[in-house]
Amino acid sequence: MSERERKPQAYYDEIKAKFAAERDLRLAYRPEGTAQFTSDLDGDPVLAKYAADPYVEEIIEREPIDDEVEVLFIGGGFSALLTAARLREVGVESIRIVERGADVGGTWYWNRYPGVACDVIAYDYLPLLDEMGYVPTRHYAEGWEILEHCRAIARRYDLYDLAVFQTTVTSTIWDAEARQWVLGTDRGDTMRARFVICANGTLSKPKLAKIAGMETFAGHSFHTSRWDYEYTGEKLEKLHDKVVGIIGTGATAVQAIPNLAENAKELYVFQRTPSSIDIKNDWETDPEWAAKLQPGWQAKRRQKAMTAPPLSVTQIEERAQLSPEEKLRRQENANIDYMMRIHKRIDEIVEDPVTADALKPWYMFMCKRPCFHNEYLPSFNRPNVHLVDTHGKGITEVGPKGPIFEGVEYELDLLIYATGFEVQKTGIWNRIVGETGVELNDKYADGVRTVLGIHTHGYPNLFIMGGYQASFNFNLTDVLQQQGDHIAACIAYVRSHGFETIDPTYDAEEWWVQEVIAHRGKTNRNAECTPGYYNFEGESNRRQDGNYNGGFPAYVQHMASVRDRMEECFTFS
Ligand code: NDP
Repeated sequence: MSERERKPQAYYDEIKAKFAAERDLRLAYRPEGTAQFTSDLDGDPVLAKYAADPYVEEIIEREPIDDEVEVLFIGGGFSALLTAARLREVGVESIRIVERGADVGGTWYWNRYPGVACDVIAYDYLPLLDEMGYVPTRHYAEGWEILEHCRAIARRYDLYDLAVFQTTVTSTIWDAEARQWVLGTDRGDTMRARFVICANGTLSKPKLAKIAGMETFAGHSFHTSRWDYEYTGEKLEKLHDKVVGIIGTGATAVQAIPNLAENAKELYVFQRTPSSIDIKNDWETDPEWAAKLQPGWQAKRRQKAMTAPPLSVTQIEERAQLSPEEKLRRQENANIDYMMRIHKRIDEIVEDPVTADALKPWYMFMCKRPCFHNEYLPSFNRPNVHLVDTHGKGITEVGPKGPIFEGVEYELDLLIYATGFEVQKTGIWNRIVGETGVELNDKYADGVRTVLGIHTHGYPNLFIMGGYQASFNFNLTDVLQQQGDHIAACIAYVRSHGFETIDPTYDAEEWWVQEVIAHRGKTNRNAECTPGYYNFEGESNRRQDGNYNGGFPAYVQHMASVRDRMEECFTFS
Protein backbone atom coordinates (compact mmCIF):
# COMPACT_ATOMS: atom_id res chain seq x y z
CA MET A 1 0.00 0.00 0.00
CA SER A 2 1.48 3.36 -1.01
CA GLU A 3 1.96 6.19 1.47
CA ARG A 4 -0.74 8.19 -0.31
CA GLU A 5 -3.30 5.44 0.18
CA ARG A 6 -2.52 5.33 3.90
CA LYS A 7 -3.42 9.01 4.43
CA PRO A 8 -7.05 9.61 5.34
CA GLN A 9 -9.11 11.76 2.99
CA ALA A 10 -9.55 14.24 5.85
CA TYR A 11 -5.82 15.07 5.51
CA TYR A 12 -6.34 16.12 1.89
CA ASP A 13 -9.61 17.92 2.62
CA GLU A 14 -7.92 20.01 5.28
CA ILE A 15 -5.18 21.09 2.86
CA LYS A 16 -7.76 21.87 0.18
CA ALA A 17 -9.60 24.06 2.67
CA LYS A 18 -6.37 25.96 3.38
CA PHE A 19 -5.83 26.39 -0.40
CA ALA A 20 -9.32 27.88 -0.63
CA ALA A 21 -8.73 30.23 2.30
CA GLU A 22 -5.48 31.50 0.74
CA ARG A 23 -7.23 32.04 -2.60
CA ASP A 24 -10.09 33.93 -0.94
CA LEU A 25 -7.63 36.14 0.92
CA ARG A 26 -5.98 37.16 -2.36
CA LEU A 27 -9.30 37.71 -4.14
CA ALA A 28 -10.51 39.93 -1.30
CA TYR A 29 -7.35 42.04 -1.56
CA ARG A 30 -7.62 42.35 -5.35
CA PRO A 31 -11.28 42.18 -6.44
CA GLU A 32 -10.36 44.20 -9.54
CA GLY A 33 -8.69 41.13 -11.11
CA THR A 34 -6.63 41.87 -14.22
CA ALA A 35 -7.41 45.61 -13.86
CA GLN A 36 -4.81 45.75 -11.06
CA PHE A 37 -2.16 45.77 -13.81
CA THR A 38 -1.35 47.96 -16.77
CA SER A 39 0.58 47.18 -19.92
CA ASP A 40 -0.25 50.44 -21.66
CA LEU A 41 3.23 51.76 -21.19
CA ASP A 42 4.05 53.28 -24.59
CA GLY A 43 3.50 57.01 -24.61
CA ASP A 44 2.81 57.21 -20.87
CA PRO A 45 4.90 60.02 -19.35
CA VAL A 46 5.84 57.92 -16.28
CA LEU A 47 5.65 54.33 -17.51
CA ALA A 48 7.05 54.49 -21.08
CA LYS A 49 10.60 54.01 -19.79
CA TYR A 50 9.67 50.50 -18.55
CA ALA A 51 8.96 49.39 -22.14
CA ALA A 52 11.88 51.14 -23.89
CA ASP A 53 14.47 48.85 -25.49
CA PRO A 54 17.75 48.92 -23.50
CA TYR A 55 19.45 46.43 -25.84
CA VAL A 56 19.30 48.43 -29.07
CA GLU A 57 22.77 49.62 -30.03
CA GLU A 58 21.71 52.28 -32.48
CA ILE A 59 18.27 53.71 -33.25
CA ILE A 60 17.93 53.31 -37.01
CA GLU A 61 16.62 56.39 -38.80
CA ARG A 62 15.03 55.47 -42.14
CA GLU A 63 12.55 56.62 -44.73
CA PRO A 64 9.07 55.05 -44.54
CA ILE A 65 8.79 51.83 -46.53
CA ASP A 66 6.17 51.54 -49.28
CA ASP A 67 6.36 48.10 -50.87
CA GLU A 68 4.84 44.64 -51.19
CA VAL A 69 5.82 41.18 -49.94
CA GLU A 70 4.11 37.81 -50.13
CA VAL A 71 4.16 36.84 -46.43
CA LEU A 72 4.53 39.25 -43.54
CA PHE A 73 5.04 38.23 -39.92
CA ILE A 74 4.08 40.61 -37.15
CA GLY A 75 6.73 39.69 -34.58
CA GLY A 76 10.10 37.96 -34.94
CA GLY A 77 10.14 35.29 -32.22
CA PHE A 78 9.79 31.50 -32.38
CA SER A 79 6.42 31.67 -34.18
CA ALA A 80 7.80 33.62 -37.11
CA LEU A 81 11.08 31.73 -37.33
CA LEU A 82 9.72 28.21 -37.33
CA THR A 83 6.87 29.05 -39.71
CA ALA A 84 9.16 30.96 -42.07
CA ALA A 85 11.42 27.92 -42.28
CA ARG A 86 8.47 25.80 -43.39
CA LEU A 87 7.44 28.47 -45.93
CA ARG A 88 10.93 28.40 -47.42
CA GLU A 89 10.58 24.61 -47.73
CA VAL A 90 7.45 25.09 -49.86
CA GLY A 91 9.13 27.70 -52.03
CA VAL A 92 7.97 31.03 -50.62
CA GLU A 93 10.66 33.59 -51.35
CA SER A 94 9.23 36.91 -50.27
CA ILE A 95 9.03 36.82 -46.46
CA ARG A 96 9.23 39.82 -44.15
CA ILE A 97 9.45 39.96 -40.38
CA VAL A 98 8.38 43.24 -38.76
CA GLU A 99 9.62 43.42 -35.19
CA ARG A 100 9.61 45.99 -32.42
CA GLY A 101 13.01 44.83 -31.11
CA ALA A 102 16.30 45.33 -32.91
CA ASP A 103 16.71 41.65 -33.78
CA VAL A 104 14.82 38.37 -33.96
CA GLY A 105 14.29 36.24 -30.83
CA GLY A 106 11.05 37.54 -29.29
CA THR A 107 10.92 36.47 -25.63
CA TRP A 108 14.61 35.64 -25.79
CA TYR A 109 15.46 39.03 -27.24
CA TRP A 110 13.73 40.87 -24.43
CA ASN A 111 14.41 38.64 -21.46
CA ARG A 112 18.12 38.91 -20.77
CA TYR A 113 17.97 39.17 -16.99
CA PRO A 114 20.79 37.43 -15.13
CA GLY A 115 20.10 33.71 -14.87
CA VAL A 116 17.63 33.65 -17.77
CA ALA A 117 17.11 30.10 -18.94
CA CYS A 118 14.35 27.82 -20.10
CA ASP A 119 13.15 25.08 -17.81
CA VAL A 120 11.51 23.13 -20.61
CA ILE A 121 14.01 20.51 -21.86
CA ALA A 122 16.14 22.21 -24.52
CA TYR A 123 16.07 19.23 -26.92
CA ASP A 124 12.29 19.71 -27.10
CA TYR A 125 12.01 23.45 -26.63
CA LEU A 126 14.42 24.90 -29.20
CA PRO A 127 12.77 24.85 -32.62
CA LEU A 128 14.18 23.34 -35.82
CA LEU A 129 17.03 21.39 -34.24
CA ASP A 130 16.87 18.73 -36.96
CA GLU A 131 16.86 21.33 -39.72
CA MET A 132 19.67 23.35 -38.12
CA GLY A 133 21.78 20.27 -37.30
CA TYR A 134 22.16 21.69 -33.81
CA VAL A 135 22.19 20.03 -30.41
CA PRO A 136 21.81 22.39 -27.40
CA THR A 137 24.76 22.45 -25.05
CA ARG A 138 22.68 21.76 -21.93
CA HIS A 139 19.58 19.81 -20.90
CA TYR A 140 18.04 23.21 -19.99
CA ALA A 141 19.30 25.94 -22.30
CA GLU A 142 20.32 29.36 -21.06
CA GLY A 143 18.77 32.46 -22.63
CA TRP A 144 21.85 33.52 -24.61
CA GLU A 145 22.00 30.14 -26.36
CA ILE A 146 18.33 30.31 -27.35
CA LEU A 147 18.72 33.87 -28.65
CA GLU A 148 21.79 32.82 -30.65
CA HIS A 149 19.81 29.87 -32.06
CA CYS A 150 17.07 32.29 -33.18
CA ARG A 151 19.65 34.42 -34.96
CA ALA A 152 21.14 31.34 -36.62
CA ILE A 153 17.68 30.33 -37.93
CA ALA A 154 17.15 33.84 -39.34
CA ARG A 155 20.54 33.67 -41.09
CA ARG A 156 20.07 30.13 -42.37
CA TYR A 157 16.65 30.93 -43.91
CA ASP A 158 17.65 34.40 -45.17
CA LEU A 159 15.09 36.10 -42.97
CA TYR A 160 17.25 39.15 -42.33
CA ASP A 161 17.05 40.18 -46.01
CA LEU A 162 13.60 41.76 -45.81
CA ALA A 163 13.26 42.07 -42.02
CA VAL A 164 12.34 45.43 -40.56
CA PHE A 165 13.32 45.98 -36.93
CA GLN A 166 12.60 48.72 -34.38
CA THR A 167 9.16 48.96 -35.93
CA THR A 168 5.72 48.29 -34.46
CA VAL A 169 2.75 47.40 -36.65
CA THR A 170 -0.20 49.64 -35.75
CA SER A 171 -2.84 48.65 -38.31
CA THR A 172 -3.59 45.76 -40.67
CA ILE A 173 -6.38 46.50 -43.15
CA TRP A 174 -7.74 44.20 -45.86
CA ASP A 175 -7.82 45.70 -49.34
CA ALA A 176 -10.53 43.60 -51.01
CA GLU A 177 -9.78 44.86 -54.49
CA ALA A 178 -6.07 44.15 -54.40
CA ARG A 179 -6.64 41.04 -52.25
CA GLN A 180 -3.88 42.15 -49.95
CA TRP A 181 -3.35 43.35 -46.44
CA VAL A 182 -2.09 46.90 -46.01
CA LEU A 183 -0.08 47.42 -42.85
CA GLY A 184 0.70 50.71 -41.15
CA THR A 185 3.50 51.09 -38.58
CA ASP A 186 4.80 53.57 -36.03
CA ARG A 187 7.43 54.52 -38.64
CA GLY A 188 4.85 55.72 -41.17
CA ASP A 189 5.33 52.66 -43.42
CA THR A 190 2.77 51.27 -45.87
CA MET A 191 3.60 47.62 -46.33
CA ARG A 192 1.38 45.41 -48.48
CA ALA A 193 1.30 41.66 -48.03
CA ARG A 194 -0.66 38.78 -49.54
CA PHE A 195 -0.56 36.81 -46.27
CA VAL A 196 -0.19 38.15 -42.73
CA ILE A 197 0.79 36.01 -39.76
CA CYS A 198 0.23 37.45 -36.29
CA ALA A 199 3.27 36.06 -34.52
CA ASN A 200 3.42 38.48 -31.64
CA GLY A 201 3.70 36.07 -28.75
CA THR A 202 1.54 35.13 -25.79
CA LEU A 203 3.47 36.91 -23.02
CA SER A 204 5.25 39.70 -24.84
CA LYS A 205 4.00 42.97 -23.33
CA PRO A 206 5.59 43.85 -19.99
CA LYS A 207 3.02 44.57 -17.33
CA LEU A 208 3.24 46.60 -14.14
CA ALA A 209 1.10 46.47 -11.03
CA LYS A 210 -0.66 49.81 -10.57
CA ILE A 211 1.13 50.82 -7.38
CA ALA A 212 0.44 54.22 -5.85
CA GLY A 213 3.45 56.51 -5.82
CA MET A 214 5.62 54.53 -8.29
CA GLU A 215 6.54 57.77 -10.01
CA THR A 216 7.86 59.27 -6.75
CA PHE A 217 10.60 56.66 -6.32
CA ALA A 218 13.91 58.53 -6.38
CA GLY A 219 16.15 55.51 -7.08
CA HIS A 220 16.64 53.56 -10.30
CA SER A 221 14.02 51.08 -11.53
CA PHE A 222 13.26 48.80 -14.48
CA HIS A 223 11.18 45.78 -15.54
CA THR A 224 12.95 42.40 -15.73
CA SER A 225 12.38 42.19 -19.50
CA ARG A 226 14.27 45.46 -19.98
CA TRP A 227 17.34 44.73 -17.85
CA ASP A 228 19.59 47.76 -17.48
CA TYR A 229 23.09 46.29 -17.59
CA GLU A 230 24.51 49.81 -17.81
CA TYR A 231 23.30 50.27 -14.25
CA THR A 232 23.98 46.79 -12.86
CA GLY A 233 27.14 45.94 -14.81
CA GLU A 234 27.36 42.89 -17.13
CA LYS A 235 28.13 40.60 -14.19
CA LEU A 236 26.12 42.67 -11.67
CA GLU A 237 29.43 43.95 -10.28
CA LYS A 238 28.00 47.46 -9.98
CA LEU A 239 25.50 46.20 -7.42
CA HIS A 240 28.10 45.33 -4.78
CA ASP A 241 27.42 48.60 -2.95
CA LYS A 242 23.71 48.83 -3.81
CA VAL A 243 20.54 47.99 -1.92
CA VAL A 244 18.24 46.24 -4.36
CA GLY A 245 14.56 45.34 -4.15
CA ILE A 246 12.54 43.07 -6.43
CA ILE A 247 8.74 42.95 -6.58
CA GLY A 248 7.38 39.57 -7.65
CA THR A 249 8.40 35.96 -7.16
CA GLY A 250 7.21 34.31 -10.40
CA ALA A 251 9.33 32.21 -12.79
CA THR A 252 11.43 35.23 -13.86
CA ALA A 253 12.23 36.40 -10.33
CA VAL A 254 13.09 32.84 -9.30
CA GLN A 255 15.85 32.79 -11.91
CA ALA A 256 17.10 36.34 -11.29
CA ILE A 257 17.09 36.36 -7.47
CA PRO A 258 20.04 33.97 -6.87
CA ASN A 259 22.27 36.23 -9.00
CA LEU A 260 21.05 39.38 -7.28
CA ALA A 261 21.54 37.70 -3.90
CA GLU A 262 25.16 36.94 -4.75
CA ASN A 263 25.96 40.44 -5.97
CA ALA A 264 23.80 43.04 -4.22
CA LYS A 265 24.90 44.54 -0.93
CA GLU A 266 21.39 43.89 0.37
CA LEU A 267 18.46 42.31 -1.43
CA TYR A 268 14.81 42.73 -0.44
CA VAL A 269 12.38 40.30 -2.07
CA PHE A 270 8.78 41.57 -1.94
CA GLN A 271 6.56 38.50 -2.16
CA ARG A 272 2.81 38.27 -2.61
CA THR A 273 2.40 34.56 -3.45
CA PRO A 274 5.31 32.09 -3.39
CA SER A 275 6.15 29.96 -6.41
CA SER A 276 6.55 26.19 -6.12
CA ILE A 277 10.24 25.38 -6.56
CA ASP A 278 11.29 21.90 -7.55
CA ILE A 279 14.73 20.47 -8.34
CA LYS A 280 16.24 21.50 -11.66
CA ASN A 281 17.85 18.38 -13.00
CA ASP A 282 20.27 20.01 -15.39
CA TRP A 283 23.41 18.74 -17.10
CA GLU A 284 25.76 19.49 -19.94
CA THR A 285 24.91 17.61 -23.11
CA ASP A 286 26.95 14.43 -23.37
CA PRO A 287 28.90 14.72 -26.66
CA GLU A 288 28.77 10.95 -27.16
CA TRP A 289 24.98 10.99 -26.87
CA ALA A 290 24.77 13.96 -29.23
CA ALA A 291 27.03 12.25 -31.79
CA LYS A 292 24.74 9.23 -31.90
CA LEU A 293 21.59 11.23 -32.68
CA GLN A 294 20.13 10.20 -36.02
CA PRO A 295 18.63 12.72 -38.49
CA GLY A 296 15.04 13.52 -37.50
CA TRP A 297 15.74 12.88 -33.80
CA GLN A 298 13.87 15.97 -32.57
CA ALA A 299 10.78 15.24 -34.66
CA LYS A 300 10.76 11.72 -33.16
CA ARG A 301 10.95 13.17 -29.63
CA ARG A 302 8.02 15.48 -30.41
CA GLN A 303 5.98 12.60 -31.77
CA LYS A 304 6.77 10.45 -28.73
CA ALA A 305 5.79 13.25 -26.34
CA MET A 306 2.33 13.30 -27.91
CA THR A 307 1.69 9.61 -27.37
CA ALA A 308 0.98 8.69 -23.77
CA PRO A 309 2.49 5.32 -22.71
CA PRO A 310 -0.12 2.55 -23.05
CA LEU A 311 -1.97 1.56 -19.88
CA SER A 312 -1.80 -2.02 -18.63
CA VAL A 313 -5.00 -4.10 -18.68
CA THR A 314 -5.23 -3.86 -14.87
CA GLN A 315 -4.91 -0.07 -15.03
CA ILE A 316 -7.61 0.15 -17.71
CA GLU A 317 -9.97 -2.05 -15.68
CA GLU A 318 -9.25 -0.14 -12.47
CA ARG A 319 -9.93 3.21 -14.12
CA ALA A 320 -13.11 2.01 -15.77
CA GLN A 321 -14.53 1.29 -12.32
CA LEU A 322 -13.87 4.80 -10.99
CA SER A 323 -16.54 7.47 -11.04
CA PRO A 324 -15.54 10.87 -12.52
CA GLU A 325 -15.58 12.30 -8.95
CA GLU A 326 -13.23 9.57 -7.72
CA LYS A 327 -10.86 10.13 -10.66
CA LEU A 328 -10.78 13.85 -9.88
CA ARG A 329 -10.26 13.18 -6.17
CA ARG A 330 -7.30 10.90 -6.88
CA GLN A 331 -5.77 13.47 -9.22
CA GLU A 332 -6.19 16.21 -6.63
CA ASN A 333 -4.72 14.09 -3.88
CA ALA A 334 -1.69 13.34 -6.06
CA ASN A 335 -1.30 17.08 -6.72
CA ILE A 336 -1.50 17.79 -2.98
CA ASP A 337 1.18 15.17 -2.34
CA TYR A 338 3.38 16.96 -4.86
CA MET A 339 2.85 20.33 -3.18
CA MET A 340 3.59 18.87 0.26
CA ARG A 341 6.86 17.48 -1.11
CA ILE A 342 7.65 21.03 -2.27
CA HIS A 343 6.94 22.24 1.30
CA LYS A 344 9.20 19.55 2.78
CA ARG A 345 12.02 20.58 0.47
CA ILE A 346 11.72 24.19 1.69
CA ASP A 347 12.01 23.04 5.32
CA GLU A 348 15.10 21.02 4.41
CA ILE A 349 16.85 23.93 2.67
CA VAL A 350 15.74 27.21 4.30
CA GLU A 351 17.29 27.58 7.73
CA ASP A 352 15.05 30.25 9.29
CA PRO A 353 11.68 28.59 10.04
CA VAL A 354 9.68 31.83 9.66
CA THR A 355 11.17 32.46 6.20
CA ALA A 356 10.69 28.80 5.29
CA ASP A 357 7.00 28.97 6.19
CA ALA A 358 6.52 32.19 4.22
CA LEU A 359 8.03 30.53 1.13
CA LYS A 360 5.47 27.70 1.13
CA PRO A 361 2.94 27.84 -1.70
CA TRP A 362 -0.61 26.98 -0.64
CA TYR A 363 -2.38 26.14 -3.88
CA MET A 364 -2.91 23.14 -6.11
CA PHE A 365 -0.06 22.04 -8.40
CA MET A 366 -0.26 23.92 -11.75
CA CYS A 367 -2.51 26.71 -10.42
CA LYS A 368 0.59 28.80 -11.05
CA ARG A 369 3.51 28.11 -13.33
CA PRO A 370 5.72 25.56 -11.48
CA CYS A 371 9.38 26.56 -11.18
CA PHE A 372 12.57 24.52 -11.10
CA HIS A 373 15.71 25.95 -9.52
CA ASN A 374 18.50 24.73 -7.26
CA GLU A 375 19.86 28.05 -5.97
CA TYR A 376 16.66 30.03 -5.34
CA LEU A 377 15.76 28.62 -1.92
CA PRO A 378 19.37 28.63 -0.59
CA SER A 379 19.53 32.36 -1.45
CA PHE A 380 17.29 33.01 1.55
CA ASN A 381 19.98 31.63 3.89
CA ARG A 382 22.31 34.51 2.98
CA PRO A 383 22.54 37.29 5.55
CA ASN A 384 22.12 39.99 2.87
CA VAL A 385 18.79 38.58 1.58
CA HIS A 386 15.53 39.62 3.24
CA LEU A 387 12.13 38.21 2.37
CA VAL A 388 9.35 40.76 2.83
CA ASP A 389 6.32 38.50 2.77
CA THR A 390 3.15 40.49 2.17
CA HIS A 391 1.02 37.34 2.59
CA GLY A 392 -1.24 37.84 -0.38
CA LYS A 393 -1.59 41.59 -0.03
CA GLY A 394 1.23 42.67 -2.31
CA ILE A 395 2.92 46.02 -2.51
CA THR A 396 0.35 48.77 -2.87
CA GLU A 397 2.51 51.82 -2.29
CA VAL A 398 5.95 53.06 -3.26
CA GLY A 399 7.49 56.18 -1.72
CA PRO A 400 10.57 58.22 -2.70
CA LYS A 401 12.81 55.75 -0.85
CA GLY A 402 11.16 52.52 -1.93
CA PRO A 403 8.22 50.12 -1.44
CA ILE A 404 6.09 50.62 1.65
CA PHE A 405 4.60 47.69 3.54
CA GLU A 406 2.95 47.79 6.95
CA GLY A 407 4.23 51.31 7.56
CA VAL A 408 7.87 50.52 6.73
CA GLU A 409 9.44 52.25 3.72
CA TYR A 410 12.27 50.07 2.44
CA GLU A 411 15.11 52.29 1.30
CA LEU A 412 16.51 51.07 -2.02
CA ASP A 413 18.97 52.16 -4.70
CA LEU A 414 17.38 49.90 -7.31
CA LEU A 415 13.83 48.58 -7.60
CA ILE A 416 13.19 45.78 -10.10
CA TYR A 417 9.67 44.99 -11.25
CA ALA A 418 9.31 41.23 -11.87
CA THR A 419 5.55 41.63 -12.32
CA GLY A 420 5.21 39.64 -15.54
CA PHE A 421 3.46 40.12 -18.85
CA GLU A 422 0.01 40.74 -20.18
CA VAL A 423 -1.56 37.55 -21.48
CA GLN A 424 -2.16 37.66 -25.19
CA LYS A 425 -5.73 36.45 -25.44
CA THR A 426 -6.62 37.08 -29.04
CA GLY A 427 -3.24 36.91 -30.78
CA ILE A 428 -3.55 40.49 -31.95
CA TRP A 429 -2.29 43.79 -30.62
CA ASN A 430 -2.80 46.11 -33.55
CA ARG A 431 -5.98 47.28 -35.29
CA ILE A 432 -7.01 44.56 -37.73
CA VAL A 433 -9.87 45.38 -40.10
CA GLY A 434 -11.26 42.56 -42.26
CA GLU A 435 -13.33 42.11 -45.38
CA THR A 436 -16.52 43.71 -44.03
CA GLY A 437 -14.76 46.65 -42.41
CA VAL A 438 -15.18 45.21 -38.92
CA GLU A 439 -12.27 45.47 -36.53
CA LEU A 440 -11.26 42.05 -35.20
CA ASN A 441 -11.58 43.16 -31.57
CA ASP A 442 -15.19 44.18 -32.32
CA LYS A 443 -15.89 40.83 -33.94
CA TYR A 444 -14.62 39.21 -30.73
CA ALA A 445 -16.76 41.47 -28.50
CA ASP A 446 -19.11 38.58 -27.67
CA GLY A 447 -16.34 36.02 -27.55
CA VAL A 448 -13.33 34.87 -29.56
CA ARG A 449 -14.32 33.18 -32.85
CA THR A 450 -11.73 31.19 -34.76
CA VAL A 451 -10.98 27.92 -36.47
CA LEU A 452 -8.26 26.18 -34.41
CA GLY A 453 -7.32 29.55 -32.87
CA ILE A 454 -5.59 30.28 -36.20
CA HIS A 455 -8.15 31.41 -38.80
CA THR A 456 -11.10 33.74 -38.38
CA HIS A 457 -13.98 34.14 -40.84
CA GLY A 458 -13.97 37.40 -42.83
CA TYR A 459 -10.24 37.94 -42.42
CA PRO A 460 -8.82 36.18 -45.48
CA ASN A 461 -5.14 35.26 -45.57
CA LEU A 462 -4.72 36.15 -41.90
CA PHE A 463 -3.23 33.57 -39.53
CA ILE A 464 -2.92 33.90 -35.77
CA MET A 465 -0.34 32.06 -33.69
CA GLY A 466 -0.35 31.45 -29.94
CA GLY A 467 -3.75 33.03 -29.33
CA TYR A 468 -6.79 31.60 -27.54
CA GLN A 469 -8.86 28.67 -28.84
CA ALA A 470 -5.60 26.88 -29.57
CA SER A 471 -4.39 24.04 -27.37
CA PHE A 472 -2.21 24.59 -24.31
CA ASN A 473 0.99 22.65 -23.87
CA PHE A 474 3.73 23.09 -21.26
CA ASN A 475 6.20 23.13 -24.15
CA LEU A 476 4.79 26.06 -26.11
CA THR A 477 7.12 25.32 -29.04
CA ASP A 478 5.16 22.12 -29.72
CA VAL A 479 2.00 24.16 -30.21
CA LEU A 480 3.73 26.80 -32.32
CA GLN A 481 5.45 24.20 -34.52
CA GLN A 482 2.14 22.46 -35.21
CA GLN A 483 0.53 25.80 -36.00
CA GLY A 484 3.46 26.85 -38.19
CA ASP A 485 3.34 23.57 -40.14
CA HIS A 486 -0.42 23.99 -40.61
CA ILE A 487 -0.15 27.61 -41.79
CA ALA A 488 2.64 26.77 -44.25
CA ALA A 489 0.50 23.90 -45.59
CA CYS A 490 -2.48 26.27 -46.05
CA ILE A 491 -0.38 28.84 -47.91
CA ALA A 492 1.18 26.11 -50.05
CA TYR A 493 -2.34 24.88 -50.90
CA VAL A 494 -3.46 28.35 -51.99
CA ARG A 495 -0.38 28.83 -54.16
CA SER A 496 -0.39 25.36 -55.73
CA HIS A 497 -4.09 25.61 -56.66
CA GLY A 498 -3.70 28.99 -58.31
CA PHE A 499 -5.80 30.80 -55.71
CA GLU A 500 -5.02 34.12 -54.05
CA THR A 501 -7.09 33.95 -50.89
CA ILE A 502 -8.18 31.52 -48.20
CA ASP A 503 -10.93 32.33 -45.71
CA PRO A 504 -12.52 29.92 -43.21
CA THR A 505 -16.26 29.39 -43.64
CA TYR A 506 -18.71 30.56 -40.99
CA ASP A 507 -19.72 26.92 -40.43
CA ALA A 508 -16.14 25.82 -39.81
CA GLU A 509 -15.72 28.64 -37.35
CA GLU A 510 -18.96 27.76 -35.55
CA TRP A 511 -17.86 24.09 -35.38
CA TRP A 512 -14.60 25.08 -33.67
CA VAL A 513 -16.22 27.55 -31.25
CA GLN A 514 -18.62 24.79 -30.15
CA GLU A 515 -15.72 22.33 -29.87
CA VAL A 516 -13.91 24.78 -27.56
CA ILE A 517 -17.04 25.32 -25.48
CA ALA A 518 -17.67 21.57 -25.19
CA HIS A 519 -14.34 21.07 -23.45
CA ARG A 520 -14.55 23.99 -21.07
CA GLY A 521 -15.98 23.97 -17.59
CA LYS A 522 -15.37 20.25 -17.00
CA THR A 523 -13.74 21.09 -13.65
CA ASN A 524 -13.89 23.96 -11.18
CA ARG A 525 -10.15 24.19 -11.36
CA ASN A 526 -9.95 27.76 -12.63
CA ALA A 527 -12.35 29.05 -9.99
CA GLU A 528 -10.63 27.05 -7.24
CA CYS A 529 -7.11 28.21 -8.07
CA THR A 530 -5.34 31.05 -6.33
CA PRO A 531 -5.38 34.08 -8.66
CA GLY A 532 -2.70 34.45 -11.30
CA TYR A 533 -2.43 34.93 -15.02
CA TYR A 534 -3.48 31.29 -15.63
CA ASN A 535 -7.02 32.08 -14.39
CA PHE A 536 -7.39 35.77 -15.32
CA GLU A 537 -6.50 36.79 -11.73
CA GLY A 538 -9.66 35.03 -10.52
CA GLU A 539 -12.04 36.72 -12.96
CA SER A 540 -14.66 34.43 -14.41
CA ASN A 541 -14.12 34.18 -18.12
CA ARG A 542 -16.47 33.75 -21.03
CA ARG A 543 -17.03 30.19 -22.09
CA GLN A 544 -15.19 30.32 -25.42
CA ASP A 545 -12.38 32.71 -24.45
CA GLY A 546 -9.57 30.48 -23.43
CA ASN A 547 -7.54 27.55 -24.62
CA TYR A 548 -8.97 24.51 -26.36
CA ASN A 549 -9.03 21.99 -23.50
CA GLY A 550 -9.53 18.79 -25.49
CA GLY A 551 -5.83 17.95 -25.23
CA PHE A 552 -2.87 18.59 -27.48
CA PRO A 553 -3.01 15.30 -29.48
CA ALA A 554 -6.70 15.94 -30.26
CA TYR A 555 -5.85 19.51 -31.32
CA VAL A 556 -3.22 18.18 -33.74
CA GLN A 557 -5.70 15.65 -35.12
CA HIS A 558 -8.26 18.41 -35.65
CA MET A 559 -5.68 20.39 -37.61
CA ALA A 560 -5.02 17.40 -39.83
CA SER A 561 -8.77 16.85 -40.33
CA VAL A 562 -9.18 20.50 -41.38
CA ARG A 563 -6.39 20.09 -43.93
CA ASP A 564 -8.09 16.92 -45.20
CA ARG A 565 -11.29 18.95 -45.75
CA MET A 566 -9.83 22.15 -47.19
CA GLU A 567 -12.66 22.84 -49.64
CA GLU A 568 -15.25 22.26 -46.93
CA CYS A 569 -13.60 24.37 -44.22
CA PHE A 570 -12.45 27.30 -46.36
CA THR A 571 -13.52 29.39 -49.31
CA PHE A 572 -10.83 30.09 -51.86
CA SER A 573 -10.69 32.73 -54.55
P1 NDP B 1 4.45 36.22 -13.38
O1 NDP B 1 3.21 36.86 -13.85
O2 NDP B 1 4.50 34.76 -13.31
O3 NDP B 1 4.85 36.77 -11.94
C1 NDP B 1 4.58 38.08 -11.55
C2 NDP B 1 4.91 38.19 -10.09
O4 NDP B 1 4.65 39.51 -9.63
C3 NDP B 1 4.06 37.26 -9.21
O5 NDP B 1 4.88 36.69 -8.23
C4 NDP B 1 3.03 38.22 -8.63
O6 NDP B 1 2.45 37.78 -7.42
C5 NDP B 1 3.91 39.42 -8.42
N1 NDP B 1 3.17 40.66 -8.20
C6 NDP B 1 2.30 41.27 -9.03
N2 NDP B 1 1.82 42.39 -8.45
C7 NDP B 1 2.41 42.49 -7.25
C8 NDP B 1 2.33 43.41 -6.20
N3 NDP B 1 1.54 44.49 -6.26
N4 NDP B 1 3.10 43.20 -5.10
C9 NDP B 1 3.91 42.12 -5.01
N5 NDP B 1 4.01 41.21 -5.98
C10 NDP B 1 3.28 41.39 -7.08
O7 NDP B 1 5.64 36.82 -14.33
P2 NDP B 1 7.08 36.21 -14.64
O8 NDP B 1 7.79 37.21 -15.48
O9 NDP B 1 7.75 35.72 -13.43
O10 NDP B 1 6.77 34.93 -15.52
C11 NDP B 1 5.88 35.01 -16.62
C12 NDP B 1 5.90 33.71 -17.39
O11 NDP B 1 7.03 33.68 -18.25
C13 NDP B 1 6.04 32.44 -16.57
O12 NDP B 1 4.86 32.04 -15.96
C14 NDP B 1 6.50 31.48 -17.62
O13 NDP B 1 5.43 31.02 -18.40
C15 NDP B 1 7.43 32.35 -18.44
N6 NDP B 1 8.80 32.13 -17.97
C16 NDP B 1 9.35 30.93 -18.30
C17 NDP B 1 10.59 30.61 -17.88
C18 NDP B 1 11.12 29.27 -18.27
O14 NDP B 1 12.00 28.77 -17.66
N7 NDP B 1 10.63 28.62 -19.32
C19 NDP B 1 11.41 31.52 -17.09
C20 NDP B 1 10.74 32.79 -16.81
C21 NDP B 1 9.47 33.06 -17.23
P3 NDP B 1 1.15 36.82 -7.42
O15 NDP B 1 1.65 35.45 -7.72
O16 NDP B 1 0.57 36.96 -6.08
O17 NDP B 1 0.23 37.33 -8.50
